[in-house]
Amino acid sequence: MPTVRDGFGASEGIVEGKVRLLTLGLPVVQHRRVEPDRIEEEVACFQAAREKTRARLQELKTATSQRLGSMEARIFDPQILMLDDLEVVDRTVEYIRENHLTAAQAFEWRILELQAMWARTFNPMTLDRLNDLEDLHSRVLHCILDLPDPFDTAHPEEPAILVAQNLTPSMAVQFDPRRVRGIATDGGTRTSHWAILARSLSVPAVVGLGDITSLAEEGQDAILDGRIGRIILDPDERDREVFRGRETQIRAWEKEIFKIAGLEAVTDDGQPVALRANLDLPGEAEQAKNHGATGVGLFRTEFLAVGRASLPCEEEQYEAYRQVAETFPESTVVIRTFDLGGDKFPMFLRKPREENPFLGWRAIRLCLDQPDLFRPQLRAILRATAHGDVRIMLPLVNNVEEVLQVRALLEEEEDHLSAKGIPFNPGYKLGLLIETPAAALDAVELARHSDFFSIGTNDLVQYTLAVDRTNSRLASLFNPFHPAVVRQLHQVSRVARAAGIEVSVCGELAANPLGAFLLLGLDIHSLSVAWPSLPEIKKVIRELRIEDARKAAARALAAPTSKDVATRLLEGVGDRIDLSAFAGRWNLNVSPR
Ligand code: PEP
Ligand code: MG
Repeated sequence: MPTVRDGFGASEGIVEGKVRLLTLGLPVVQHRRVEPDRIEEEVACFQAAREKTRARLQELKTATSQRLGSMEARIFDPQILMLDDLEVVDRTVEYIRENHLTAAQAFEWRILELQAMWARTFNPMTLDRLNDLEDLHSRVLHCILDLPDPFDTAHPEEPAILVAQNLTPSMAVQFDPRRVRGIATDGGTRTSHWAILARSLSVPAVVGLGDITSLAEEGQDAILDGRIGRIILDPDERDREVFRGRETQIRAWEKEIFKIAGLEAVTDDGQPVALRANLDLPGEAEQAKNHGATGVGLFRTEFLAVGRASLPCEEEQYEAYRQVAETFPESTVVIRTFDLGGDKFPMFLRKPREENPFLGWRAIRLCLDQPDLFRPQLRAILRATAHGDVRIMLPLVNNVEEVLQVRALLEEEEDHLSAKGIPFNPGYKLGLLIETPAAALDAVELARHSDFFSIGTNDLVQYTLAVDRTNSRLASLFNPFHPAVVRQLHQVSRVARAAGIEVSVCGELAANPLGAFLLLGLDIHSLSVAWPSLPEIKKVIRELRIEDARKAAARALAAPTSKDVATRLLEGVGDRIDLSAFAGRWNLNVSPR
């Protein structure tokens, strides 16, 4: 019997392979009292292990920089800094000298204390720090005990799907993608540092599976789909067929992608659509272009900050934004200001303990409170406006005051740049993400103060339905076809049209074929999707008729339930688009798994 587990897709791709259980057990540390005359030897042994670990992490950082880029390599900085953290070093030395512990025992003792302390302040940032600390724990102990790098021995000999409780960035960069086909973890989030690296390395990954390490067995057959966030253990013939179908489709598409990339995003009856890409890292811009993006509809800049030991400086940010702008010199590039908070928190910000991080100090609220973080970013984006149609977009805006505050800051920064003779485009556009019901209901007022809207359906659905988007247990309740969501989409689209400003959608709904059909039917002619979805959605756009979409959307707007919304849209699509290929992925009710 197959066992199916759903978590969250963290890195695209579908793979089949044998399970390799990765249990990076810590070496056993023997208790031994150190004789007084050997104490300094133990201290020296600890210091040498620190140096060796630092050298190894530096090595990994350099390799990552060469393989993926300097921005990605900065993910190692927090761990390197931890090696010098007095809280770690001084206490360990103190335990050796005062308690006569061995280097290994003293270090282990200190790490366990820190883990207990940090775990008490539960929040996503602490989880990432704990993860880094655990990795350091293992690395330093292996050095003290003169054991080989734990990951070298854990790396599979044969191509396999790694199943682990969680990973660390240093493990992720050590992967040989030829031998690690995919990764499935109990914990982790899409924003875990290692998941960001897995995306850059194009290794499919599914996170947040809860208990996958206790269900999976070494050598078991498995299929992993990083797009829908699913793993199937012991797949049956039907699962394999679906897998093969998807794989064949992907392979056929790989050939077709370049053909599709060169075609226009226009419906069968002539409605042009601006089809742009969502990016997490600047390095993805090239991929987006190759996959046929006509610009960038959402550049999530917070990945420049998450996992870093310090704030990326203005210059570094400017280079990242310029890189993206120069990849799309003729097209729109929308740069979203830091959407930090929620499940994305950089280490350098002292985060208060919050009961509800998604309802807390997040996005524009945090930036307006932290001018030292926000102003350099605004300056960097303003400077990037000199390189094309670069626009600024504000996340999680709830009211006009927030926009006015940002406008005032921008004016000051513009003056600052002008005074120094630094070029920028004074005619740049400032837009808002509409991602709370407050913003959707107040769109008329917000439209007076913004140059464009982009609807963030991931958050809009979360906040409208009160369903945590990161809770896999609630995944079936996270329904973008809920009538309350559809009506807000309609309302925002109408307001934007009346105000004469562009409206787009950059949430996942735009990458859902039925969602794209609905959005076009609601007169939203600009969609932004993760770059791997671009060819699929372009194909869907080219196959549908805007007239059918309008009629179906009108009927969907009058539907009493989510199911009726989906049914009416499916009727509208008819047999113009083959939705069976998307069925499993989007729960379209066409044909279940
Ligand atoms: C959204 O909320 O739909 C969105 C696009 O932003 P993010 O997923 O980064 O919150
Ligand atoms: Mg959002």
